[in-house]
Amino acid sequence: MKKVFIYFFVFLLIFFLLPALLTKKNVEAKVSDNKEINATEEEKVENYDYKNYGTIKLLHLETNEVEEVPIDTYLVNVVSAEMPADFEIEALKAQSVVARTYTIYKIQNKKHDNADICDNSGCCQAWISKEERLARWDEGVRESNWQKIEQAVNGTKGKIITYEGKPINAFFHSNSGGKTEVPVNVWGGTGYPYLQVVETSGEDNYTQYNSEVVLSKEELLEKLKVNYSDISIDFNNNDDLKILEYTDSGRVKTVKFGNHNLSGTETRSLFGLRSTNFEIIKENDNIKFSVKGYGHGVGMSQTGANTLAKEGKFYEDIIKHFYIGVEIQDINNL
Ligand SMILES: [Zn+2]
Repeated sequence: MKKVFIYFFVFLLIFFLLPALLTKKNVEAKVSDNKEINATEEEKVENYDYKNYGTIKLLHLETNEVEEVPIDTYLVNVVSAEMPADFEIEALKAQSVVARTYTIYKIQNKKHDNADICDNSGCCQAWISKEERLARWDEGVRESNWQKIEQAVNGTKGKIITYEGKPINAFFHSNSGGKTEVPVNVWGGTGYPYLQVVETSGEDNYTQYNSEVVLSKEELLEKLKVNYSDISIDFNNNDDLKILEYTDSGRVKTVKFGNHNLSGTETRSLFGLRSTNFEIIKENDNIKFSVKGYGHGVGMSQTGANTLAKEGKFYEDIIKHFYIGVEIQDINNL
């Protein structure tokens, strides 16, 4: 009887306890393996090998100096110049990936002879020195703002936006006024399949959404005379000053100013309007342009990105909302 008990115990040991112990050991081994994998991946992110894109030649337009900077160091300065630091971290990450993509695109499609990109937002991409940036923030938030932007750039190391395996021309702007615009209506040309009209709600919560420019009839004529010396408008005739055509995104395409028709973009630059999404209102002796949105309206809207981030969207979702049919890829996998 005793023997049977011993056999039974040995049987138990061999078939249940030992495998259980071994399995436990395996599980532990797996866990520590994962830890190791995580550690190496973090290290990989930290020391991301950008290969040909590790250093960029940045042209400072005012001094005409060309500075060589590590790409992500450059991008922290760019993102801090392009987007408010109090925006959500996922919006800042989206901006980082957009800025990185724009930079790579510019390296591949050079505009300047001895540099990859310049520090002017009107020409290439805005840039601000760390010193100047910190000085413009309140003392209490300087360090935390800078660290937040570093986190956004470093948390997306190597990530860029591609369409059919190539970096996209990642246009962006401040506030879309609710709908983005296609590039053909801003700069002409043939356009890009990933830049379409996209709607985003909630952009009216930002100060960038509403603005107006009010001019007297004389001021309006003066500005028009610069380009059209024979301009003449009959202000008593409602048909002599009116919007003739809109684009698919609801922006102004053509405006009739008396004996001349101007495009929405020309009207915008002539009168310093924040966007081409405007109405013309006659108020006694004044002409009022009531404007929605801020910027050309193409690609990612920054306030739209922040709205989506507040709704819980990740940077990948935000990017795919504004750029149609794109992928987010590791630059080394191109
Ligand atoms: Zn430039």
